[in-house]
Amino acid sequence: MGDCIFCRVVRGEVPAHVIFEDQTTFAFLDRHPINPGHVLVVPKRHEPDLFQLNEEEYLAVMRTVRAVSASVLRTTAPKRVGLLVAGWDVLHAHVHVVPMHDYHDLTSRQTLEGTRGNPSDAELDGLAARLRSD
Ligand SMILES: [Zn+2]
Repeated sequence: MGDCIFCRVVRGEVPAHVIFEDQTTFAFLDRHPINPGHVLVVPKRHEPDLFQLNEEEYLAVMRTVRAVSASVLRTTAPKRVGLLVAGWDVLHAHVHVVPMHDYHDLTSRQTLEGTRGNPSDAELDGLAARLRSD
């Protein structure tokens, strides 16, 4: 639990490109985005399953998802902002907020095969700053 990668991100032990933080939730850029502006929203408390969060935490996560989605929409101007909850990769509840430029962005070959983008820290820093200020 304490060694979970997302718990370590929340505690600041692992560098992340932070978009938003409040008492209950934390939002940061995905290291391997489907598209630029792909954000992960997590509860601060470790819980593997999003749907096992208590009501207050679940609603807090979704409130942050909505705020971050609006920022992603304004900053990256996609056709849609899609949400993805799967939980196969990291066992700490998280919602993917994905700028969608194509109908298949959420189910694309690069998503299915784990060959998504690999932007530099400088690129991620710049985008995080834009998303925070938007
Ligand atoms: Zn965790």
